[in-house]
Amino acid sequence: MAETPSKSSGLFGWYFGSNLLIRILTGLVLGAIVGVILGLNPGTKVTTNFIFFANFFGALFIRLLKMIVVPVILFSLITGAASITPSQLGRTGGKTLLYYIVTSIISVSIGLIVALVFRPGEGLNMVGAEGAPEKAASMPALTDVLLNIVPTNPVESLAKGDVLPIIFFALVVGIGLSYLRDSKNETLAKQAHALYDVIAAAAEVIYKVVGGIMQYAPIGVFALIAVVFAQQGPKVVGPLLYVTLAVYVGLILHLCIGYGGLMTLFGLNFVTFIKGAWEAMITAFVTRSSSGTLPVTLRVTEENLGVSRKISSFILPIGATVNMDGTSIYIAICAMFIGFAVGHPLSGDQMLMLMITATLAAIGTAGVPGAGAIMLIMALETVGLKVEAGSAVAATYALVLGIDALLDMGRTAMNVTGDMAGVTIVAKTEEGMLDESKWKK
Ligand code: ASP
Repeated sequence: MAETPSKSSGLFGWYFGSNLLIRILTGLVLGAIVGVILGLNPGTKVTTNFIFFANFFGALFIRLLKMIVVPVILFSLITGAASITPSQLGRTGGKTLLYYIVTSIISVSIGLIVALVFRPGEGLNMVGAEGAPEKAASMPALTDVLLNIVPTNPVESLAKGDVLPIIFFALVVGIGLSYLRDSKNETLAKQAHALYDVIAAAAEVIYKVVGGIMQYAPIGVFALIAVVFAQQGPKVVGPLLYVTLAVYVGLILHLCIGYGGLMTLFGLNFVTFIKGAWEAMITAFVTRSSSGTLPVTLRVTEENLGVSRKISSFILPIGATVNMDGTSIYIAICAMFIGFAVGHPLSGDQMLMLMITATLAAIGTAGVPGAGAIMLIMALETVGLKVEAGSAVAATYALVLGIDALLDMGRTAMNVTGDMAGVTIVAKTEEGMLDESKWKK
């Protein structure tokens, strides 16, 4: 769905008539400037009032996006799974899985290398408080994680917005529909086609709504960014600035080496990709939610990158939930940071363990703001850095948590970029799934 420039004149005409991307970028830059200025005077009436109102307008944007997440996943996944043959579904799924595994390995490795070069936290000598009670987080059993993917009541999952069970349910319904559409029984095939048309139309309506919501994005982006900077700005100094830098270097390296390398390998122009993917990257950056960004991700991969909705509609919702390279880079670097900061740099064995847990933790991370920070606790536990209240580890973790919004923006943008790169590469390898005319501009 393209932007529809309004014919009306005046401020609204100018607003709706100008380029959406430029408007979003303007919101981003203005938000950062206003936030930093206000952040210099925390606690003043102006700053407090501004944060109050900006929170309102920012939350409105997040709510609008969240509103359409469940319908987007449900309708687009059913349509996606139903519009290709079951055998193609298996083949595409296999390739996607392979892509996820390869990029996860690259991302964690880059995270560890960057941490070893930067050595963030070294010499920080963090100490904990004495006599504090102990508290440890535990990793849910793998069997439970797997079983919970299958909903016992799909309606309950839809109502609660549990993404993985919804994906599972939508996939099986879509596959069932795909078989019925091919049925030899004419009545059944006709019914299946009718149902398919209804669900496909519902998906179209939702995409239309997404386009409308994006018109509000520049204002939402301005508000969200301004709040982050107004609250965090002055705190981001010294070691924290350094660990932030390390995380962003890791993310950018992964973007260029991991995604750039893979795209080049598959004959895709990386610059064209970034230009097309930009809108979703920025939305992810400011909303800090892969799931919340999903509607935009779906739209840009189809409109700008030319990926057929037949595959994007089922690969992207899965990717937004399980494929999180940005989060694994963040976990790897921050765990190393905490090790250095408390004077227990991770050993080779611990780093190997960290590679595995960072990957698994990223898979288990929900595509919502701050989820990765919770998984970081679990990764720390598995390498023996127990987050016990009052300990040096807990104190350093709290520091990282303090700047989580900044780290989350970068990692979420990378998570979403990884999803888009993956679906584009898979589409390129499938007959008729990538509209290459979009790449020749
Ligand atoms: N906010 C991230 C996302 O939605 C997850 C995380 O916190 O790492 O992709």
